[in-house]
Amino acid sequence: MRVLIVGAGGREHALAWKIGQSPKVEQIYCAPGNAGTAEIAENVDIPADRVDRLLEFALENKIDLTVVGPEQALVLGIVDQFKEKGLRVFGPSALAAQLEGSKVFCKDLMKKYGVPTGDYRVFESPEAAHDYVLTREEKLVVKADGLAAGKGVLLCDNGQEAALAIQTIMQDKAFGEAGDRIVVEEFLEGQEVSLLAFTDGKTVLPLDSAQDHKAALDGDKGPNTGGMGAYSPAPIFTEALKQEVMKTVMQPTVDAMKNEGRLFQGILYAGLMLTQDGPKVLEFNARFGDPETQPLLMRLENDIVPLFEACIDGTLDQQEVKWNPKPAVCVVLAAKGYPGSYDKGKVIHGLEKAGKISQVFHAGTKSCDGNVVTNGGRVLGVTALGTDTAEAIASAYRAVEEISWDGGMHFRKDIGKRAG
Ligand code: AMP
Repeated sequence: MRVLIVGAGGREHALAWKIGQSPKVEQIYCAPGNAGTAEIAENVDIPADRVDRLLEFALENKIDLTVVGPEQALVLGIVDQFKEKGLRVFGPSALAAQLEGSKVFCKDLMKKYGVPTGDYRVFESPEAAHDYVLTREEKLVVKADGLAAGKGVLLCDNGQEAALAIQTIMQDKAFGEAGDRIVVEEFLEGQEVSLLAFTDGKTVLPLDSAQDHKAALDGDKGPNTGGMGAYSPAPIFTEALKQEVMKTVMQPTVDAMKNEGRLFQGILYAGLMLTQDGPKVLEFNARFGDPETQPLLMRLENDIVPLFEACIDGTLDQQEVKWNPKPAVCVVLAAKGYPGSYDKGKVIHGLEKAGKISQVFHAGTKSCDGNVVTNGGRVLGVTALGTDTAEAIASAYRAVEEISWDGGMHFRKDIGKRAG
């Protein structure tokens, strides 16, 4: 089987690593990939959002299965275009990916079908939005409707701050057209967890629990990032809680999408807040999360390819997922300055030594004159299994100690501590 993975992050390296273990797979391509995927797959120099060129490549190279990492390609309709040409591809259609691509669509769907989420209002004009928030004293969340690379959500302490957020999104157009409409949402308090599930549009097969660390600094301080680390399982996510989320969130959402004529096949990722009134949805993603995928795939015992195929074929009811009981922890090494501005092109040292201790997934890296150099904000995801969380943490940080690059790296020192 010839597999194409679309994307260039740590998630895609982890997918390539896992797919490469399948006896069904003889060749993997990754577009555009990174220096890590290049060790397992053949990197193809096509950006993840160039659906036309990806389609041409897949047809020419007789790709049997395409797995899509990032959301842009899904929202642009990569799945529809590949399927039209008879290609097999894992992920939701453009219509289904709107669950992530439009916060307004997502909130309206949840309201219509009674999926628990925070109260909200939608605004298409900045004036109306200002009038509304300036009467409010409480904390609010202002969200750009469209995709904004994870940056379109602004947490506000009061109405005044919300008014500034509206200015940033709707008038200054900080996220371009994504900010033509906004959602102003109730601020939810509690612990944040995520649940990912495979779905073929009918059956929902949850993955084991995982939790990520979004804040840049230790103790969950500092600005939000794409994710500074993750661990699996998340002890706070008990079996009872998982059953509740399956019953109140996951299955109703998949059923609702089917009912709306937007059959959702692929990974459904629910970002949840565990509030005093029970779990409520913060957002849905239409794909694997990064970095949660790294520890999750370290623990998945199945061959992942039949799971992808079952989602495409509508036979997920015949599948089961098996997990290594050992916990896994992923520590993200970022470039100094991230999530603000940072340098690229620094030679990374110690990868071989670190790789003997833990699994080092590459994110923003590329090969250059025989070296691996930094090529993004999040550079590596050092991921380790342990007999318990403490051992997994120790082993990941032992590997981290081996790694360095000029200009300095930034990483959190408390990844996994919450899991205790
Ligand atoms: P989202 O992309 O919608 O998940 O938002 C990004 C982050 O903002 C989430 O992971 C939460 O930490 C936070 N967030 C989003 N919505 C809310 C909300 N209604 N209340 C509190 N925090 C939120």
